[in-house]
Amino acid sequence: MYVTVKVDKDKCTGCKLCILTCPEANVITLNEDKKVCINSNRCKGCFLCVSVCPKKALKEGSV
Ligand code: SF4
Ligand code: SF4
Repeated sequence: MYVTVKVDKDKCTGCKLCILTCPEANVITLNEDKKVCINSNRCKGCFLCVSVCPKKALKEGSV
């Protein structure tokens, strides 16, 4: 088990702020439905994205 970020797709507006904030390239991507998707294998668990999301669509989680 390791830490990652969980996405509440009902809240995500696709504003991309989390993508711009994430220090790791291509960990957060936008799906075809304009909702973000987290590549959990490469997420470092810094949770910067969680703190910047204006819609509180991201939260700490584990898989
Ligand atoms: S910052 Fe929040 S609302 Fe904006 S794209 Fe990321 S998860 Fe979605
Ligand atoms: S927790 Fe850090 S590394 Fe993981 S997706 Fe968010 S900003 Fe990127």
